[in-house]
Amino acid sequence: MEFDKITVPEEGEPVEVVDADTSEFEVPDTPIIPILYGDGIGTDVGPAAQQVLDAAAQATGRDIAWMRMYAGESAREKYGENLPEDTVEAIRTFRIAFKGPLTTPVGSGFRSLNVALRQRLDTYANVRPTYHLDGVPSPVSNPEQMDMVTFRENTEDVYAGIEWEHDSDEVEEVREFVEKEMGFDDTIHDGPVGIGVKPITEFGTKRLVRRAIDYALEHDRDSVTLVHKGNIMKFTEGQFRDWGYEVAEEEYGDEVITEDTLWEERDGEQPDDAVVVNDRIADNMLQQVLTRTDQYDVLATMNLNGDYISDACGAQIGGLGIAPGANFGDALCLAEPVHGSAPKYAGQDKVNPTAMILSGVIMLEYMGWDDAAELARDAVEATISSKMVTYDLHRQIEGGEKLKTSEFADEIVENIETLA
Ligand code: NAP
Repeated sequence: MEFDKITVPEEGEPVEVVDADTSEFEVPDTPIIPILYGDGIGTDVGPAAQQVLDAAAQATGRDIAWMRMYAGESAREKYGENLPEDTVEAIRTFRIAFKGPLTTPVGSGFRSLNVALRQRLDTYANVRPTYHLDGVPSPVSNPEQMDMVTFRENTEDVYAGIEWEHDSDEVEEVREFVEKEMGFDDTIHDGPVGIGVKPITEFGTKRLVRRAIDYALEHDRDSVTLVHKGNIMKFTEGQFRDWGYEVAEEEYGDEVITEDTLWEERDGEQPDDAVVVNDRIADNMLQQVLTRTDQYDVLATMNLNGDYISDACGAQIGGLGIAPGANFGDALCLAEPVHGSAPKYAGQDKVNPTAMILSGVIMLEYMGWDDAAELARDAVEATISSKMVTYDLHRQIEGGEKLKTSEFADEIVENIETLA
């Protein structure tokens, strides 16, 4: 294993893929895990999360050999480019990796490094579990009802990056094609226009929905909801729903049942032993996550809907300082928090590292280290319940103690030692 500017730690071993189709791994007691702190607050939350995950691993008789890699600002300094091949190759080689946020300036022709990473690694499922930890302030009355996992398709939709700038030769060529060749001659207003393309493929849809159903079956969940705007975008979002149902009906036998069949054949009664697949229109779903929170379980949706819905769910369980996530490909996991690089707080040792820590918890679960994952999660919960919190939660908790990022991590580590 040769990298240009990445040093492979001598003390660890790589995880080994046993079966790429089922993402089965052989994880050594000291796996090498690539870590990218990222931009802005990444250098605050990254080391804090590392410290907590180290403590959880050590308390359960293991260790993690971290391997630093670089993208964004740190890569510009080290390599003179934003996303070095070294970094992509390190994740491909070591298969399970951890990253903080990367900055993408709006406009400016600067392509999102996150989108580029997802496309290059083909991490097609962005998974965002939203569950409530005791003691976390919430804008809703019963936040404990929120326990959903959003599977967001990560490589397609309007995020695919197929778009053209107004007044460019390309955009005028596309406009002409759409108007003259495709017959939409009265649809686009005159004057400057930006145009983007929304690809939704059968391949992309089915592998995402398969992953969501597999998760629901493995984790004893009741339902998978396909979320779409198929009433308006029939051939993209509507087709996502139809292909989603096709997977459910054709690939899972009795293990999966559609909502229609449930009503036609079972009078709406949920079977104990099967996952129900249903679908909801995205705008309605944004209401349902608030009004009928406990009725939903696993959501499967396209890129843009998934971005909105998972943030809306995240608001109910404490917001961006809390909400974790991970990107999955075939036998590949890149865990990362939902939040961005919050540049105004960078380097202040101020922000909440919980989202980054809980993203690490997803990674530990994927490694099969369920005991370490549970310990880390419980220790975070114990710390917040005792009202020792960072600024974001402190402003909502009466009588709370405001801690810095690093002090909060120290408290969690102490709780790990007590709980272990
Ligand atoms: P953001 O960085 O997520 O920050 C928005 C606000 O969320 C912050 O001002 C803060 O709110 C709160 N917040 C975020 N992380 C927090 C934490 N760990 N603890 C406590 N509060 C936290 O969103 P943004 O300002 O829209 O985006 C900044 C940059 O990040 C952009 O370049 C964007 O493209 C990028 N981004 C990257 C990723 C990624 O790498 N996956 C994801 C999203 C955005 P208050 O000020 O109200 O306390």
